[in-house]
Amino acid sequence: MNDNEWGTLYLVPTPIGNLGDMTYRSVRILGEVDAIAAEDTRHTGILLKHFDIKKPLISYHEHNKEEKGAYIIGLLLEGQSVACVSDAGMPAISDPGADLVTKAIEEGITVVPLPGANAALTALIASGLDTKSFTFAGFLPKRGKHRVEELQRLSQVMGTLLFYEAPHRLQEVLQDMYEAFGNRSIVVARELTKKFETFVRTDLESLVKDLEQLTYKGEFVLIVGGADTVESDTSEVLDEPVSYEEAVQKRFNVSRRDVYNIVER
Ligand code: SAM
Repeated sequence: MNDNEWGTLYLVPTPIGNLGDMTYRSVRILGEVDAIAAEDTRHTGILLKHFDIKKPLISYHEHNKEEKGAYIIGLLLEGQSVACVSDAGMPAISDPGADLVTKAIEEGITVVPLPGANAALTALIASGLDTKSFTFAGFLPKRGKHRVEELQRLSQVMGTLLFYEAPHRLQEVLQDMYEAFGNRSIVVARELTKKFETFVRTDLESLVKDLEQLTYKGEFVLIVGGADTVESDTSEVLDEPVSYEEAVQKRFNVSRRDVYNIVER
C-alpha cells in the first residue's frame, strides 16, 4: 500500500511462448495482489494454474476498457492492489493496459512496471540490424490505403523499424513495404522462444521475389532497416573500391613494391 493508502497497479509481463520466461518476480507479484486484470481470463487462467496462483480475475480488454477501467481504478482507490497482464508479453505494448496506466497516473495511483518478455525487442536483439536507434511501429493499418500511407510516412524514419503482423496479411504487407521502402534489409522472426523459432535474414527484394521461402504459420515480428541504411547514389563522388594495398599506395604516394615492404599483413 502507498502512503495515501491506495493500492498499486502492477504491470506484469508474461511469456511470449516459453513458460520458462516467466520471471520469479512476476510469479510473486501475481500471488500477492488482490486481483488480476487480464485480457483473456481463460488464457491467463491456464497460466495461473501452471504457477499454482489463485486470484480473482477481471476481464479487461479493448471492448470493455472504459467500464472495466473505471471499476479497476475504483478498486485501487479502495486500497486493493491490481496486476494487469495481457495474453503474452508486456501489457500496454500492442495490448490493453495503456489506458489503465493513463487513468491510474491521473488519479495519482502508483504504477509499478515489471520487466520481462516482449516480442519486438526479443526479435530486434537477434536481428543483426542496428539496435542503437529504432522505432516500434506495432501493427500496420489493416486496410490497403491506410497501410500504404503509414508505410510512406515510415519510409522517412531513421533507425530500425519494428513491426508485428498476422500471418495471413504477411505477403501483402511485405509487398507494400517493398513498394514504400525500396530494397532494405529485413529480418522475419517467427515463433520466438517456441519450438519452431526461426529467423530469415534477407532483403525486401529477394523476399518479395520468392515469397515461398517463408512459412506463413505462427506469430511474426518484422525488423526492417531504417531510412538511414538505404545507400544513396554516390557513384559520382566516390572512386571505385580499392584494395588495402592500393589505398595505402594512394594515401602515402609510394610505389606498390614499397607498400608490400611496409604493410604488415
Ligand atoms: N504485448 C506483446 C509483446 O509485448 O510483445 C505483443 C502482443 S500483440 C497483440 C501480439 C503480436 O506480437 C503477434 O501478432 C506477433 O506479431 C507478436 N508476437 C507475440 N508473440 C510472438 C512470438 N512468440 N514470436 C513472434 N512474434 C510474436
